[in-house]
Amino acid sequence: MRIAIIGGGISGLSAAYYLEQERAAGAPVEYSLFESADRLGGVMFSDKIGDCVVEGGPDSFLTEKPWANQLCAELGIAGDLIGSNDSQRITYILVKGRLIPMPDWLMFMVPTKLIPTALTRLFSWSTKFKMLGELLHPPRPVGKDETVAQMVERHFGSEVVDRLADPLLSGVYGGDAASLSVRAVLPKFVEMEENYGSLCKAMLAGRRKMAAITKAKGYKPKPLFSSLKGGMQQMIDAVVARLNPQSLRLSTEVSKLAPMAGGWELITPRGTEQFDAVIFATPARIASTMLANVDAELSEDLGKVEYSSSITVTLGYQRDDLKSCLPGFGFLIPRSEGTRMLATTFVHTKFPFRAPDNKALVRCFLGGANDQGVLKLTDEEIIAVVRQELKQITGITADPWFVKVYRWDRSMAQYTPGHLERIERIGEILKEIPNLSIAGNFYKGIGVPDCIRTGKEAAQHMATLAREGQAVKP
Ligand SMILES: Cc1cc2nc3c(=O)[nH]c(=O)nc-3n(C[C@H](O)[C@H](O)[C@H](O)COP(=O)(O)OP(=O)(O)OC[C@H]3O[C@@H](n4cnc5c(N)ncnc54)[C@H](O)[C@@H]3O)c2cc1C
Repeated sequence: MRIAIIGGGISGLSAAYYLEQERAAGAPVEYSLFESADRLGGVMFSDKIGDCVVEGGPDSFLTEKPWANQLCAELGIAGDLIGSNDSQRITYILVKGRLIPMPDWLMFMVPTKLIPTALTRLFSWSTKFKMLGELLHPPRPVGKDETVAQMVERHFGSEVVDRLADPLLSGVYGGDAASLSVRAVLPKFVEMEENYGSLCKAMLAGRRKMAAITKAKGYKPKPLFSSLKGGMQQMIDAVVARLNPQSLRLSTEVSKLAPMAGGWELITPRGTEQFDAVIFATPARIASTMLANVDAELSEDLGKVEYSSSITVTLGYQRDDLKSCLPGFGFLIPRSEGTRMLATTFVHTKFPFRAPDNKALVRCFLGGANDQGVLKLTDEEIIAVVRQELKQITGITADPWFVKVYRWDRSMAQYTPGHLERIERIGEILKEIPNLSIAGNFYKGIGVPDCIRTGKEAAQHMATLAREGQAVKP
């Protein structure tokens, strides 16, 4: 069975890698991967600048989600996996121009200790009283989907939306709490509300249960984030090294897809090619356009997935230049503070193997759903904004020895209310078109491990079809 993979980010590469594994295990599959850019990896990209490793896109992945770790083990690079320096993990929130440490009793915006909650400078007294009252929140059956902001406001008030929910989510989804679906983004919160009512009570119960399991089994906590010594690019390079170079079509944008008897016809500037099956690993809007004359409903649902754009700016300093900075991983900035920066990471503290001892890397995030206008600025204007805001917040005045700006146009899928139903409908329609599969960050999770999982599942589905000789006409 000949399979076309459209898109060569980590989702498409994962599909190609697992098809290669299936082929080696005897499945009658071959593939071609089409990528419009002149390099593979999509938003996953690391630069080597001097003796520093600089991430343009993702800098790590969540350790607890297994698919990226598994892939690294299969690729033989597990020995190069590194964990975040969690003993130095302090994240600050900018509140009225001052950096306030986010306490460790705050579990993803839910307070789990009474006295420290009363004493923290992170919240006003009215929010603290609301947090206390939250313990009495009655259980609520799962109802209509709502936004994260709506749910968090019901429990803790609008200050927690502004100071915690928004900044935490803009780091992960490049979106804001007022437009992301709580069921898609924080399904645990929905479950906790259904079972306990109070999120504080539920978190405490979960924490006690975890502590008991950890004690009984003698688990050592794993680092929260993992990455690779050579940067995230190392994963891309290791995957590509396992693929057949003849199967990789760089600088080849697929412009059209047409169903034909027993398969698909793909049109690129280099000509027309025929395949038995197709795996889309592009942003949803690209698949939506190409599938418009294949299935109107599928195309419509794909077209409804919104995306936000983001910018990362990395500045290289001498370590001594950062004496005015507080220790820790970096800080998040609520929208109400009025800055253009959304967050800053002190990369040299967060990860080993990123900068030598005398150098420092500061990475800043801009853009997201609420500031798409920032993408219209020139690199020089963006750098000026970042340097001015860094000076104001951290006191850094030194000239960096390098600055690099990376722009990611409409790359982060937004899981808006109704997203899960949309994805379910897409899954149902795809059951009727078995020689078409979808992978990517809008499908089953935004992060790198979930993208790898979607690529793997698409490859396994195609291999099963090929084995069963079931390629069904579209
Ligand atoms: C700035 C930033 C920071 C992030 N940080 C993290 C993080 O720390 N941890 C984490 O887990 N996740 C993070 N993410 C999310 C994660 O990196 C992405 O969700 C994931 O890498 C997306 O991979 P993908 O292959 O689905 O999409 P992409 O990487 O967007 O790849 C899609 C590919 O399709 C190609 N393409 C599009 N149209 C066509 C066409 N017509 N023909 C051929 N090719 C086409 C594109 O050129 C692109 O290469 C971050 C994302 C960004 C942008």
